Amino acid sequence: MDLTYTPEEEEFRVRLREWLAKALPELPARPDPLDWPARRAYDLGWQRRLYDAGYGSLHWDASPTQRLIFLEETELAGAPYVGANFVGLLHAGPTIAAEGTDEQRARWLPPILRGEAVWCQGFSEPDAGSDLAALRTRAVRDGDDYVITGQKTWTSHAEIADWCELLVRTDPEAPRHRGISWLAMPMDAPGITVRPLRTLAGPAEFAEVFLDEVRVPVANRVGAEHDGWRVTMVTLSFERGTAFVGEVVACRRTLGGLARTARVNGRWDDPVLRRRLGRLNAEFTALWRLIQWNVGAAGAAGGTPGAGGSVFKLRYSQARQELYDAAAEVLGTAGALDADQEWTAARLSSLSYTIAAGTSQIQRDIIAERLLDLPKGR
Ligand SMILES: Cc1cc2nc3c(=O)[nH]c(=O)nc-3n(C[C@H](O)[C@H](O)[C@H](O)COP(=O)(O)OP(=O)(O)OC[C@H]3O[C@@H](n4cnc5c(N)ncnc54)[C@H](O)[C@@H]3O)c2cc1C
Repeated sequence: MDLTYTPEEEEFRVRLREWLAKALPELPARPDPLDWPARRAYDLGWQRRLYDAGYGSLHWDASPTQRLIFLEETELAGAPYVGANFVGLLHAGPTIAAEGTDEQRARWLPPILRGEAVWCQGFSEPDAGSDLAALRTRAVRDGDDYVITGQKTWTSHAEIADWCELLVRTDPEAPRHRGISWLAMPMDAPGITVRPLRTLAGPAEFAEVFLDEVRVPVANRVGAEHDGWRVTMVTLSFERGTAFVGEVVACRRTLGGLARTARVNGRWDDPVLRRRLGRLNAEFTALWRLIQWNVGAAGAAGGTPGAGGSVFKLRYSQARQELYDAAAEVLGTAGALDADQEWTAARLSSLSYTIAAGTSQIQRDIIAERLLDLPKGR
């Protein structure tokens, strides 16, 4: 696969770089990380600016290479990350674009792109995380509505979300993978209770969501009734395959900064640490190449990243943890416990990456079964 960019693509990069140089200095100050409504407003405001400048739909509505250039340049320029728009832009939106009807695309995609709607993901349940097909939240058909009762957990951004990509069991008699449906649920529907969960890293990023006879129109179902598992595989392949792509660029920036700090504070004299930073640099460079390959292959195969994303997710989430371990060593105890706690928070939250979007063990199972064609272990 040819990974070099065409002159047109390089021209796109230059134009974007120029636009970012003008737009970023005009941005308001970043909000307090504990203030979720302010973070919502900030992230939606940035998305609106991207939309107005014609860059709003690059996450799913552009050539794979343009998308990579966009992610690379916005990160290199230090632009805000997707933040509260994570689910909408990086996996609910792409799923609706790939699997929704024309009417559904027209209804839900423009508000995501214009920075008017935040989405969350209601997949995990107390007894259905890695074994997602064990989910028990029930949806019973009543006329033109589903009536939904159950509980979701670990729902990131539930407190500030307008919509939820929700998995429900529509046929309790069918084999586990066959009786599930994928719905778009408005978060202001009566019967929804959101209880924030605090984490090791501090701010209440996610929540438990209780559903008590919540009515959702049948028209909000994406894909056929009981065919939600197939739609879910599309969502997860975006979530694992492309959603963390921009963060790799951020990690490379962080690593560069650490190497500079090590030179200044004397840690660079330690050959073991130097080798560790060098290995991480090689690792993130290789991950970026893997992304280029995966995204290119997905483009050629009609847009869905497939199980190849699991290879990236497995290695990226581990490399990110190793990066923040190395950071603690470069900065030492005093530096790692900096006054604004930024490094501490980043290190603590890096621990969650080998769990969120499917644990490393589950990614290994997927790679073994779907890519290496090894026999099922269970
Ligand atoms: C920061 C963060 C944000 C998240 N946001 C969301 C969200 O917005 N929406 C959402 O729906 N979910 C979200 N999740 C949930 C996440 O998808 C689940 O935590 C994850 O899928 C693991 O499920 P579990 O926590 O139930 O662990 P379990 O499934 O109980 O697993 C516990 C341990 O057993 C291992 N294990 C389980 N089964 C196997 C097996 N067959 N083979 C080998 N090992 C196995 C797992 O790897 C893990 O180490 C989030 C999680 C995190 C950490």
